[in-house]
Amino acid sequence: MQSLVALLGAVASFISLVKGDTCSELRANTNIEVSAPVSPSYIAEQTEYWSASCSALKPSCIIFPKSAAEVSTIISVLNTNDEHFAVKSGGHSPNNYYASVDGGPLISTQNLDHANLDPATGILDFGPGNRLDGLARKLQGTGWTFVGGRIGNTGTGGLMLGGGLSYMSAQHGWSASSVLEYELVLPNGTITYPSATNHPNLFKALKGGGNNFGIVTNYKTQAYPQGDVWGGNLLFLRTPATDKKILQAVRDFTEYNTDDRAAVIVTAERAQVNLVDSWILFLFYDGPTPPAGTFTNFTSIGPITNTARTRTYADLMTFSNWVVLKGFQVQIGTETIPLPSTTHSVEVLEGIHAHWRNISLTTLAVPGIVASIAYQPFPKRIAAAARAKSPDLIDANPDADKLIIEMNYAFLNPFDYPLMDGKMQQTYGGIRERVLNWQAEGKLAADVDLPVFMNYGFYRQDYFGRLKPENRALARQVADEVDPDGLFRNRTGGWKP
Ligand SMILES: Cc1cc2nc3c(=O)[nH]c(=O)nc-3n(C[C@H](O)[C@H](O)[C@H](O)COP(=O)(O)OP(=O)(O)OC[C@H]3O[C@@H](n4cnc5c(N)ncnc54)[C@H](O)[C@@H]3O)c2cc1C
Repeated sequence: MQSLVALLGAVASFISLVKGDTCSELRANTNIEVSAPVSPSYIAEQTEYWSASCSALKPSCIIFPKSAAEVSTIISVLNTNDEHFAVKSGGHSPNNYYASVDGGPLISTQNLDHANLDPATGILDFGPGNRLDGLARKLQGTGWTFVGGRIGNTGTGGLMLGGGLSYMSAQHGWSASSVLEYELVLPNGTITYPSATNHPNLFKALKGGGNNFGIVTNYKTQAYPQGDVWGGNLLFLRTPATDKKILQAVRDFTEYNTDDRAAVIVTAERAQVNLVDSWILFLFYDGPTPPAGTFTNFTSIGPITNTARTRTYADLMTFSNWVVLKGFQVQIGTETIPLPSTTHSVEVLEGIHAHWRNISLTTLAVPGIVASIAYQPFPKRIAAAARAKSPDLIDANPDADKLIIEMNYAFLNPFDYPLMDGKMQQTYGGIRERVLNWQAEGKLAADVDLPVFMNYGFYRQDYFGRLKPENRALARQVADEVDPDGLFRNRTGGWKP
């Protein structure tokens, strides 16, 4: 049997030699930049992942296209062989093989870093080579901003394709809601421009459909007028009393805040080192100062530090980068839950938090562990704002308030990955199980759509299975149309419709 496997392996290697590999073909026949494993640009690009588990996967070469035409050439070459490959923007997806690859070519969008603003209309074209902080710096002083994520180091390419939750989502919907047109290189190498009127199904599928339809080389978006903003962090030492007050405050903010310019992210973290057990809150107001009382629910709890102040948006993006820990293996997972009523708030939110504390307690002996959970308001207003702008696959109903819960585990030793994979499944799985039970008992609204938010999804979560069936069917239909041979379905990582 072993000799048969060896023989088949030799035949496969021979066939790929005959077909040629993408790196050699591009080096021999084009001027496209291709970096070999020993080169400084290869080594530098490999450090630009959020999770060290992705950095540990070694592509056969890294290709740095500068234009849609070069991307088209790369795809044409990929179509002549059967190599696995990956497309990478900021490398912030910690799921292995999503924006990383072992043994096949990696396409880095780093050089597609243009940003062109029409100051009269606020129409902004930008490439996936931009990170949020870099794009904010390019827009600094123009009076315009884009609807991006909250941490500057995040790439724009993947964030936009997963929808994109922003401090400005209650005003403008998902980051993807403001895309007017994509420049997309299809799996057959054709360059196309989907918009609301040109290939509208593909246009919708790109909003929450991930890397299934080709490589985006430009996002044409609507930017919005922007002055100074107000933002920063509150830090609290954790006590049972603080847990209670903060969980109540985030529930109430989600239901009662009527000012779309105000946003919060509420996170708890614990680590063995220095016995960290804290709450860190991210507060944001889209204006120089929030109206009195906007965040009193949180500030009145008594933080030990408060860094919120008036800043430029670019400054806030750069400031936020303190959260990015380098050199750690990282896992991310998520659940979406209906917002509990005040009657069931204590049972639901404190129940979920106790579950997280119980599981994370069992991880504290893992070397370097940092366990965190984030409660992110997903009020009706975000769904309504997204719907008003443009259809997307998430297609959230604007009739119920929800919370998006994000969980992270960061740890040092790659050998702990399987153990932590199990812990991550227990963490989000336990939340899901509890939510289903509370729904069955009438303690949580039952008729609420609860999508898995792609940008925080663990690779084991069923992203497409949690969309509405008609949206999953649309994603599948579009993927079949644009990628009949399965270039992206069979040869890249990521959720497949
Ligand atoms: C510290 C931190 C903060 C975050 N904050 C937010 C937040 O505020 N809001 C939010 O919504 N999400 C947030 N995220 C999640 C983040 O949006 C996702 O991890 C997202 O995938 C990162 O985008 P990226 O460009 O860095 O992705 P990458 O890891 O480079 O890519 C992710 C996926 O997108 C694909 N992809 C990337 N570019 C292209 C392209 N041009 N064409 C086709 N496919 C492409 C990749 O192949 C891969 O499958 C955060 C993540 C981290 C680590």
